[in-house]
Amino acid sequence: MKILVINAGSSSLKYQLLETKTKNVIAKGVCEKIGLQNPTISYKHNGQEQTFKGAKNHEEAISKVLDILVNKDYGVIKSLSEIEAVGHRQVMGGWVYSESQLITDELLKQIKKFDEFAPLHNPANVTGMLACKKVMPNVPQVAIFDTAFHQTMPEKAYSYAIKYEDSQKFHIRKFGFHGSSHRFITLEMAKILGKKVKDLNLIIAHLGNGSSITAVKNGVSVDTTMGLTPLQGLMMGTRSGDIDPAVVQFLMNKKKFSIDECMSYLNKQCGLYGVSGVSSDQRDVIAAAKEGNKRAQLALDMLAYSIKKHIGSYLAVLNKVDAIVFTGGIGENSDLTREAVVSDMDELGVVLDKKKNKNFKRGEVELISSDKSKVKIYVVPTNEELMMAIDTEEIVKKLKKSK
Ligand code: ADP
Repeated sequence: MKILVINAGSSSLKYQLLETKTKNVIAKGVCEKIGLQNPTISYKHNGQEQTFKGAKNHEEAISKVLDILVNKDYGVIKSLSEIEAVGHRQVMGGWVYSESQLITDELLKQIKKFDEFAPLHNPANVTGMLACKKVMPNVPQVAIFDTAFHQTMPEKAYSYAIKYEDSQKFHIRKFGFHGSSHRFITLEMAKILGKKVKDLNLIIAHLGNGSSITAVKNGVSVDTTMGLTPLQGLMMGTRSGDIDPAVVQFLMNKKKFSIDECMSYLNKQCGLYGVSGVSSDQRDVIAAAKEGNKRAQLALDMLAYSIKKHIGSYLAVLNKVDAIVFTGGIGENSDLTREAVVSDMDELGVVLDKKKNKNFKRGEVELISSDKSKVKIYVVPTNEELMMAIDTEEIVKKLKKSK
């Protein structure tokens, strides 16, 4: 089945056209600077890349992408009717959705209520959905929630120790994110280890610009490092991750920040970028550290330590762990980070094979633990878009059956 997967941001819209049967990406690209000056649309297919003039709003962006996909000269499909459904990344499913859902007017109303939890992402996701509904009114649309996979967390794991009445009334709790990635890796690991999903205990480290680690017990998420928002947990590209909440008060006083300025600072100016003063991109920070930049080295050390600490806490939570899995841009590519994270954990049953960790073909599944390791260590490429397409296909198949 051909599925169009959409990830809509406030001024960008990523798209991928996938064939679920072969798991192939037919075409993909990004509409950038939507509504801004000099908007563009990139388009990759069959090893070629083209750039087109972009759009003034999301609706126009979707229309233009569809025109590109069916273009007689460089398109990849003959007619729009070949696209059987659209899957939309939806950052927030709150406490309501534990699975992907068909998008209806009722669902859109409910999602709107989550705006206050993700003020930047949530309205943008909905704009993408509305735009698609308008341009492709007869094509089923599905919402895939970043939070859904973590709805299995027990109350003791998702609750914050604030006044119970307040956490209940305002839904102040841990939701967790990166759900499509953590779920994809869980399903992949069942195949790789030849086990049933329900028998799997994993620690999944999704490390990218945004990073989170999830503890998977008996195939479901029982804890994850991101919280009410994606700011909690690990140190990230530009996000601070865990800090003492009193730091907020200090920063507001010292830098004369408003609360919004302070939150923007913690989200956009901290992490690898803030500590190193070099970049939020780990490759740049590694290069700077190699040239002797001490702040860059500190940032790398802090990043690895923050990952190690959380992996350690989930070893305690799970007790028996089949595998620690590294994924995401950093997890899949940075042998340096992986080595720094899992070194000196042999007493806990975690032993890296340093050679394997350094020398393997990137983009492939690789076992990087030594034979002595009680806990296996894997690198597994994630594929959030494929997970979204598979979910969308399942819902569309059910819909067809019920008709
Ligand atoms: P996002 O969270 O935006 O999806 P990615 O998963 O693409 O991000 O990860 C981006 C991060 O991966 C960046 O910090 C980048 O520097 C890092 N990365 C990519 N390739 C390498 C590499 N070869 N070595 C170290 N870090 C890498």
